[in-house]
Amino acid sequence: MADQLIRAIAAEGGIRVVGVTTTRLVEVARQRHGLSYVATAALGRAMTAGLLLASSMKKPQSRVNIRVKGDGPIGGLLVDAGLDGTVRGYVEKPDVEIAPNADGKLDVGSAIGDGYLYVVRDVGYGYPYSSTVELVSGEIGDDLTHYLATSEQTPSALVLGVFVGADGVEVAGGLLLQVMPKAARDELLITVLEERLAELTGFTPLLQAGKTLPQIFEELVGDIGLEMLPGAQMVQFSCRCSRDRMLSALKLLGTDELTDMIKVDEGAEAICHFCNEKYLADSEQLQGLIQELEAQAT
Ligand SMILES: [Zn+2]
Repeated sequence: MADQLIRAIAAEGGIRVVGVTTTRLVEVARQRHGLSYVATAALGRAMTAGLLLASSMKKPQSRVNIRVKGDGPIGGLLVDAGLDGTVRGYVEKPDVEIAPNADGKLDVGSAIGDGYLYVVRDVGYGYPYSSTVELVSGEIGDDLTHYLATSEQTPSALVLGVFVGADGVEVAGGLLLQVMPKAARDELLITVLEERLAELTGFTPLLQAGKTLPQIFEELVGDIGLEMLPGAQMVQFSCRCSRDRMLSALKLLGTDELTDMIKVDEGAEAICHFCNEKYLADSEQLQGLIQELEAQAT
């Protein structure tokens, strides 16, 4: 089934629930970037979180960027997710593998190490809202929950899961529960939510058991006025790079640099960080850029 995002409310609008399945898009990222097991889990969790965070924004062009910078072996990662359901991202050292932790789980926390989490919310007309917090564990879910509580003052629970098998990503997805301002003082409601979440031992076992997002919502908050919101949204790995953008970027290098590229390399190669797409420009195309630059200069 295609990856999708589903929204609901509970407790008469006091609780916002969003769930997303990301199995396919995390597998696309794994293949594009040649990610190790642990890098797949790290980037998969962050891409899942990006889509969940973007889901509450209002303007259609809204995007969220999540950057994690750590001192661990995979270095860090960057994710760009939109309210439109598109997400892309990369890991600094995609092929580094580390041993699983004592529970046999992929040790994302150790792979990331100590460092910082940066979140940028861009509604599409300048002045993006950005915030930085120290990493709590490097496991991504904990770090973003901490960010939401401290920087955005929204008590939230974020559950993220990516299960990678020998043939690739078996299941991936996540869940975001947020207590809205109108219910923020409702201690009983918050206690009930905390208890339910404590019982939840992870998200991937639910998906592996074949449960759908509506079934998971029902089990979690079905007895406190769950109302599914209409319209499941498709989500996918998608990058905005293109040959034209690559050529525009090359043009910025200027005539001298472009002439050098023709002489030395007989062309240029550019790789998009976000999706690992490789673009090639031959001497003729570079010559075309030089002519455009010269025409602009006169
Ligand atoms: Zn790209």
